[in-house]
Amino acid sequence: MAKSYHIITFGCQMNERDSETLAGMLEAQGYVFEEEPKKADVVLLNTCSVRENADKRFFGVLGQLKNPHERNPEMIVGVCGCMMQQQRIIDMLKSKYPWVDLVFGTYNIGEFPRLFANISREKKMLVEVWESGKPMEEGLPQSRAFKFKSYVNIMEGCNNFCSYCIVPYTRGRERSRRPEDILAEIRALAQDGCKEVTLLGQNVNSYGRAKSIEGSYNWVTDEPHLDFAGLLREVDKIPGIERIRFMSSHPKDLSDDMIACFGELKHLCRQIHLPVQSGSTEILQKMNRHYTKEQYIALVEKLRAACPQIAISTDIIVGFPGETEADFEETVDLCEKVRYDSAFTFLYSVREGTPAAKDPEQVPEAVKHQRFDRLLDVMHAIQEDKSAADQDQIYDVLVEGQSKTDPGMLTGKNEFGKTVDFKGGERLIGQIVPVRIVKAQTFSLYGELL
Ligand code: SF4
Repeated sequence: MAKSYHIITFGCQMNERDSETLAGMLEAQGYVFEEEPKKADVVLLNTCSVRENADKRFFGVLGQLKNPHERNPEMIVGVCGCMMQQQRIIDMLKSKYPWVDLVFGTYNIGEFPRLFANISREKKMLVEVWESGKPMEEGLPQSRAFKFKSYVNIMEGCNNFCSYCIVPYTRGRERSRRPEDILAEIRALAQDGCKEVTLLGQNVNSYGRAKSIEGSYNWVTDEPHLDFAGLLREVDKIPGIERIRFMSSHPKDLSDDMIACFGELKHLCRQIHLPVQSGSTEILQKMNRHYTKEQYIALVEKLRAACPQIAISTDIIVGFPGETEADFEETVDLCEKVRYDSAFTFLYSVREGTPAAKDPEQVPEAVKHQRFDRLLDVMHAIQEDKSAADQDQIYDVLVEGQSKTDPGMLTGKNEFGKTVDFKGGERLIGQIVPVRIVKAQTFSLYGELL
């Protein structure tokens, strides 16, 4: 019988994409996916360190694997991803979870088959974590979660050092893939039936700009040059690709040329995730974000001038160190001005190793929670209003599968990234179909197939 694997992924889309690579490597060795982690022969946990509760969740999930691992002498448990780039986590694993078989980091995912071959349960934990990255590796296998849509990494790492963020320390400096490699990957995906690609990077707007890693693509020295807008224009020409999305964008690097793409490109979805983090210029400065509240609002105005229907989502951190009541009111004011289609709001949580963690002006938890609730009320009212406008609209929906809440329904996404549930046969999965919205709720849309 074939051996089985299960991968538990925490965090962002880049981690999801990395997990698809790990799955591809295991499947290349004959392993098959097992739904139930405790029954799998190999379990990998691909971790995230952006927020404190992701750390806690990781240790909780890992702890649950101890007994199955003890019971099954063949079972291998490996951990990887951003958390492993921090020495304190490795120390904790060695002292409290010595039974873990393999530990590796974000830079050496490509080494997984070699590391995997060297695991021996009789020996102690195999730890190999690199401290910095090479250019992004090409040609690694991938087991895609969906045939009709796919993530495509275009760059990795970040040079921005926002003062609250651990990513530049765990994913390293920016490295961009060569445009020809990205375009070849997307052409192959399209030939395989993929209709939607999401281009991924910590800051896609600075694609190709960084010079720091030798061998990575950068248009300061490489010819001919393609920046992110240029790359989007090339992807837009690939036959079969009907939808293009991207994540994530730093407002300071959002160029006019990039904004123009929303009015110009046929397949670029009219949706952008543009993390603002705070509406207070003072707090933005402390966050090291390099834009003001006014500059951010001006960007939103430009986006809406180029593409009036564009859906805009954001991330907001509530209770950043030093945030006063007046600063928080600036955030509320910005949200009311921008009227986001959706927002991910987070309570500030200390990330050890970042400058903000040492800030003496930490906001008391009770104040953070109270502001958080107030902001949610503001956002809900805006989103309720916006959703009401979806009533009776007809959207093209890429059908992703059965609805998780009601298996009798199908679920998919419209161009604006909103989830739409409707009744229909399984044969529609993977197709783009027209759906009229018959019930528009704040966070969910229900429709009928036309
Ligand atoms: S842009 Fe800022 S928040 Fe985003 S990954 Fe880089 S440092 Fe973190």
